[in-house]
Amino acid sequence: MKKISLLLLLATLGCKQQILIEESLSPTFGIVIHGGAGTILKENMTPTKEAAYRKVLTEAIKVGHTILQNGGSSQEAVEKTIHVMEDSTLFNAGKGAVLNSNETIELDASFMNGSNLDAGAISGVSTIKNPISAAIKVMENSPHVMLSGKGAEDFAATQNLELVKPQYFITDRRVKALKRVKAQEALRNKPISSAETSFLQHQRYGTVGCVALDLEGNLAAGTSTGGMTNKKWNRIGDAPIIGAGTYANNATCAISATGWGEFFIRSVVAHDISALMEYKGFSIKEASRIVIHEKVGGLGGDGGVVGIDAKGNVAMEMNTPGMYRAHMDAEGNLNVKIYKK
Ligand code: ASP
Repeated sequence: MKKISLLLLLATLGCKQQILIEESLSPTFGIVIHGGAGTILKENMTPTKEAAYRKVLTEAIKVGHTILQNGGSSQEAVEKTIHVMEDSTLFNAGKGAVLNSNETIELDASFMNGSNLDAGAISGVSTIKNPISAAIKVMENSPHVMLSGKGAEDFAATQNLELVKPQYFITDRRVKALKRVKAQEALRNKPISSAETSFLQHQRYGTVGCVALDLEGNLAAGTSTGGMTNKKWNRIGDAPIIGAGTYANNATCAISATGWGEFFIRSVVAHDISALMEYKGFSIKEASRIVIHEKVGGLGGDGGVVGIDAKGNVAMEMNTPGMYRAHMDAEGNLNVKIYKK
C-alpha cells in the first residue's frame, strides 16, 4: 500500500516537473511602453485628456503586440509601436516634441537589439519624421553607433526615410510652453543653474519608449524624445545614449528610460539595471527599483523606466507621481496606467 502511494507521488511530482520545464521553455512574448514620466497629477488632468492618452497608448501597444503575436521581431515591434507615439502630438517625440530655446526642434532617439548587442542612435535632428527609424538605420547601415545633427540628417537622406520640414514637428502647445518657460527664466534674469531643480523638473514630459520580447526570445529597446523645453547649446539627454536611456541584452533585459536626462546619464540607468541582473542575479523589478529609487533618486534626479526580461517579466518603475505606460502580455492582457498608484 505504502509502496503504491509512493510511486503515485513520484509520478505526480515527475509530471509537475515536466509541466514546469515545458512552461519555462515554451516561447512567450510581451511588450511594454512608456510615454514619459513626470509630475503627472490626477488633479491637473481632465477626463478627456486622460482618455486621449489612454487611447494612443493602447493603439501603440497593440501595433507592437500584433507584430509579436504573428511571429514578428522585437525590433519591428519596437519601431512600429514608437512610430504611433512619434506621430501623435501628445508626446514629446516626433510631431509635438518640445522646443529648444531657439524655437526649433532637436530630436534624439536610440535603439538596441538584445540578440547581438547591435545599437544605433541619432541626436539633434529636425527633419527626420520618425527618429527611431533613423537610429535603426544607423545600426543597420552605418559602421557607427551614434550620429548627430546635420550629418545624421545627411545619412538619413540616403536611407529612404521620410523627411519633413522642421515646421512639421511644431505645435501650439509647445510654442506656448516655451514662452512660459522663457518668461519664468527672464524673471530670474540669469540662466537656470543645475541647483534650481524644481524649475527644471517641470520642463520635460512625454519622451516615448518601448521594450519587447519576441517569440524567438529576442529582446529589443527603443527610446525617442525632443528632450527638454528651452534646452540650449545642443544639449543632449539620456535618450540617445546607449546604456543610459536604452539598453537590451538577451541575457538580461530590455530597458527604456524617461526622466531627467542628466541624472540618467550619470547613473547609466539602463545598463546598470542589466548589470544588476547579470552580475547579482536580481530580478528585473528589484534591479529597476534599486536604480530608480536608490541611484537616480539618491543623486536628486527623477523619472522612470519600463523593462522586460527574457521570460516576459516586466518592470514599470518610477519615482515621479506618474508615468504614461502600458504592458501587454502574450495572453493579450492589457494594462494601461498613468499615475504611480
Ligand atoms: N530623458 C529625456 C531627456 O532628458 C526627457 C524625458 O524623458 O522626459 O532628454
